[in-house]
Amino acid sequence: MNDLWERSLELTRERIKAQNFKTWFEPINFVSAKDNTLTLKVPNKFFKHWLTENYSSIITDVLFDLTSVNYNIKLLISNEKEKKEKISNKPRGHLRVKGNLNPKYTFKNFVVGSCNGIAHAHSMAISKSPGGKHNPLFIYGGVGLGKTHLLNAIGHEVLNKNSNLNVHYLNSEEFMNELIYSIRYDKMNNFRNKYRNSCGILLVDDIQFIGGKERTQDEFFHIFNYLYDSRRQIVVTSDNFPKNIPQLKDRLKSRFESGLIAYIKPPEMETKIAILKKKAEIDEIDLPNEVAIFLASRIKSNIRELEGCLLNLAALSSINNSPITLDLAQEILQNLLHYKKEKPSIEQIQKAVAKYFNIKLSDLTSNKKTKPIAFPRQISMYICRKLTDYSFPEIGNKFGGKDHSTVIHAVKKIESKIKEDPILENNISLLTKNLAP
Ligand code: ADP
Ligand code: MG
Repeated sequence: MNDLWERSLELTRERIKAQNFKTWFEPINFVSAKDNTLTLKVPNKFFKHWLTENYSSIITDVLFDLTSVNYNIKLLISNEKEKKEKISNKPRGHLRVKGNLNPKYTFKNFVVGSCNGIAHAHSMAISKSPGGKHNPLFIYGGVGLGKTHLLNAIGHEVLNKNSNLNVHYLNSEEFMNELIYSIRYDKMNNFRNKYRNSCGILLVDDIQFIGGKERTQDEFFHIFNYLYDSRRQIVVTSDNFPKNIPQLKDRLKSRFESGLIAYIKPPEMETKIAILKKKAEIDEIDLPNEVAIFLASRIKSNIRELEGCLLNLAALSSINNSPITLDLAQEILQNLLHYKKEKPSIEQIQKAVAKYFNIKLSDLTSNKKTKPIAFPRQISMYICRKLTDYSFPEIGNKFGGKDHSTVIHAVKKIESKIKEDPILENNISLLTKNLAP
């Protein structure tokens, strides 16, 4: 085996879990290392996909640490002739046009359910007539629920219909990096002109990252206004409702709120199953119905995780040369989920809620009844009920000895409020994201 590859395996072994090393690195065969390109052979296409998605940066980092060279990684599938496919190690940043949209994130590959129906409908409408009535569009929702997918789909569709239109797709961190670069190299005029003159439709992913970045927000605000005034389409995604994005300037909040706002909820069971089936169809994975139902019932909300399980399952079944079965799915899920956290304690929940609402921890266990205290207290009780196995009286006890009926009332109240208030629903899901086992 090649010396460089051997040393990089040693280093990788120290950086990732033993089980992952065994599954994803031991089956790799070294092919060659020349001209800053490391060529490796992997067992199959799922393996390649998984390695690319999850370990490409680890491999390039390790190689860089060993050689101070930015290596390209070329992955060949066993029995496959050399093709020009690479994991790119180009630094991210700058604008992406057609070739840089993710080719898999199309409308055709997007499963529509009631969780994402409105966001999907607005996105389709925009693709038909960008810069029309649906401007700007603000899509928000939790992690892994399809925001980036929809944004890419708009880009593809617009280009399919009108390939002359310049689609600018980037995330807000890339926007910021580009701005910093332009300031540093005295290229602000180029920066502004590029957006003003050559941007037909602007798609900005994860806008929440510009919270607290004053200069970036100012530049974005001006570009936004310019594009909006010249009737060019703007679509923005975020993990939260504009008003709730920390440290976002009011004038940007109000711009975002002036247009259409679509919320993507966590998917319901049927949508999860449909998504799994669609993914299986695209990747030619033979997925039995019962396994799809099992995965959809075990993975609560994140579609990215759902996909990850499916790919793991497909990879293992093809390495073992055995079909995908319920047993295999159970085994994989146990493996994948074993690293997950224990259930949170009531104290952890209280701390997280107090921090989120910027109130004192002692307020939550006090008897204060003012709304700024009572409401977060009710939310904490609700989250305790959802994420832990404590009974109503036990929860009441931990909130300064409240009666169990107070807890029941709180849980019911938040449950019904969530139904009518998507912003609250999203806030609670953000809060629970880091707490949930
Ligand atoms: P987000 O940007 O909201 O964090 P992504 O758009 O990256 O989420 O989606 C995560 C993964 O889930 C992607 O691979 C995406 O293709 C897939 N996905 C999400 N929603 C759907 C859907 N409705 N239909 C098909 N795939 C979906
Ligand atoms: Mg995203």
